[in-house]
Amino acid sequence: MEPYPATLEHEDLLVRRGRRSGLPTMVAVHSTARGPGLGGCRMWVYDGTEAAVADAMRLARAMTFKAAAAGLPMGGGKGVIMLPSADALSRRGARTAVLRDFAETVDALGGAYLTAEDVGVTTRDMEVVATGTPYVTGRPRRHGGSGDPSPWTAIGVEIAMRVAVQQRLGAADLAGLRIVVSGLGHVGARLAAACAEAGAQLVVADIDPRKREVADRLGARWVDPDAALAVSADVFAPCALNGVLSHATIGRLSAPVVVGAANNQLATDDVAEELAAREVLWIPDFVANAAGIINIAVELRPEGYDVRQARADVLRIGDTVRLVLAEAAAASITPLEAAMRIARRRVAEGAAVTPSAR
Ligand code: NAD
Repeated sequence: MEPYPATLEHEDLLVRRGRRSGLPTMVAVHSTARGPGLGGCRMWVYDGTEAAVADAMRLARAMTFKAAAAGLPMGGGKGVIMLPSADALSRRGARTAVLRDFAETVDALGGAYLTAEDVGVTTRDMEVVATGTPYVTGRPRRHGGSGDPSPWTAIGVEIAMRVAVQQRLGAADLAGLRIVVSGLGHVGARLAAACAEAGAQLVVADIDPRKREVADRLGARWVDPDAALAVSADVFAPCALNGVLSHATIGRLSAPVVVGAANNQLATDDVAEELAAREVLWIPDFVANAAGIINIAVELRPEGYDVRQARADVLRIGDTVRLVLAEAAAASITPLEAAMRIARRRVAEGAAVTPSAR
């Protein structure tokens, strides 16, 4: 596990031992320069408090740049509920206790941090957190929230894909392109359906053999997940796990365009340079998969959530991708470096512009 970031860029770090559960709950706020620090709550088994704090700080920082790259009036934060072992919540009432402790930690920051679902936390868990603090986003639509982000994330990735194939392959649309979607979960299955609908030749993979049903339904070719990267194709869309693109794996990649929903697709940042050297156009994951937080930002408007506004704001992912690729071309840098430059600039400006005012 990485040590704490050497320079303390973060605005806030609150670590509290829960008075109900006795477990550590924590929030890291990296930046509120553009608005409140938004980021999900992760409930996970960590190898000690230091590892959990490091994770919260690293993820909070990434959220700052993700929100800024999307042009949102929000900063970056992250919550962590640290479980010492997998059975730490086996005692009756323990889960509710730790969720209420986490709510207190969130509430203590007075709105500098806005929480949401993340790994290990369910919609029902967030409803428990919401009993202890108003700073909960992404709640079900019936509770005034912006609801499930996955359909939006799939739409955002599809838009990013359309811009990428236009720029790299000169393709006017997805019809006839061979597209590999690896990971048929909440986002990947929807993305695959959209690609099939658009007339793409679809190839799909998942480690879960039950997902073959999705392939059959969409008339897609099913391949083994290990083989997905090497399938001869126009687009590879990683929609499963972290680190799929590494110096060790990208030699097998055949597609000239990579764009997908998965977070942290690069094992290390310098893989972006090797992709560019191989003339692979990789759209930075945090740009392509930002629709979830774009949708949450709609909920935070004074007017409240509006589905038409959400659609309009998510569609602007296409403009962001074009901006990133133009900056990359102009400065002869990778799309990753260009996206980070744009995001850093926006954080430095600190201007809280609303998406529709961009
Ligand atoms: P999910 O858990 O619903 O789906 C993941 C799918 O990937 C599952 O079907 C799983 O069986 C499959 N899988 C796991 N390992 C695999 C492998 N090695 N090869 C092929 N398939 C594999 O998750 P999701 O909500 O669809 O999210 C997918 C990715 O997108 C994740 O990395 C997530 O962090 C990221 N993401 C999701 C959202 C969202 O709105 N859900 C937003 C931003 C980013």
